Amino acid sequence: MTRTVYVNGEYLPETEAKISIFDRGFLMADAVYEVTSVLDGKLIDFEGHAVRLERSLNELDMRSPCSKDELLAIHRELVAVNEIDEGLVYLQVTRGSDGDRDFAFPDPDTTAPSLVLFTQNKPGLANSPASQKGAKIISIDDIRWGRRDIKTVQLLYPSMGKMMAKAAGADDAWMVQDGYVTEGTSNNAYFVKGNTIVTRPLSNDILHGITRKAVLRMAEEAQMTIEERLFTVDEAKDADEAFTTSASAFVMPVIAIDDVTLGDGTPGPIAKRLREIYLDESRKAAI
Ligand code: PMP
Repeated sequence: MTRTVYVNGEYLPETEAKISIFDRGFLMADAVYEVTSVLDGKLIDFEGHAVRLERSLNELDMRSPCSKDELLAIHRELVAVNEIDEGLVYLQVTRGSDGDRDFAFPDPDTTAPSLVLFTQNKPGLANSPASQKGAKIISIDDIRWGRRDIKTVQLLYPSMGKMMAKAAGADDAWMVQDGYVTEGTSNNAYFVKGNTIVTRPLSNDILHGITRKAVLRMAEEAQMTIEERLFTVDEAKDADEAFTTSASAFVMPVIAIDDVTLGDGTPGPIAKRLREIYLDESRKAAI
């Protein structure tokens, strides 16, 4: 089935969708994005993603291409026409194209932002074999820019990190700055010692994960102890278990870090329980 995608007001077959070669998203990575997961044909935490999108746009002085209600309608239409039961909706807003290349931002009164959305069909996402097996992680230097709280499409280094992980026979990488773990290439990072979950506090150094917020709330409701503080890779290697969170993989158990096996090398009980609670509550609250 050819996907139907959305580009600047139009629903089109993916083969007919076009963006200018002068679009600043293409030339300058002058763009922000969101990924919202779909379970049972419904959107998970749409509100959280819409609020973060607005924040990213504000931080970059970029105008909103449309209202939150319009965005919701586009998400729902794409999920419906593409018959997505489990999968993702990708959304990107760029500063648009003024028909040439210039470092200075174009006048927003004459250059409108570009808005692109497409779906990714992922049957079995909630029960993925990867989540049952758990992920092997390597640690790498974090050499990204200093505003990782803004969800920009500057994803070259995270892509390289995934390739470094692959080359090392692992699944993903955690990034380390000044001796402390910042986050995964496309997820937030946690370790568990006893009944305590440790994760880095929010700042400009990491993305403010929508899944992070939900999972920490659910962990608290389940009487787990949460410590938001800086932590080292060595602390995580010495943990009982570890995991990551993201909208596209929910709660993903981590079973090894830099060749050090955690626990018995299978997903830990707290990660498994949080994944179950997250999936269960998210399905109930999905719209
Ligand atoms: N950190 C980074 C660097 C990410 O790319 C992502 C996923 N986009 C996350 C954290 C997790 O955020 P969320 O839970 O909102 O998907």
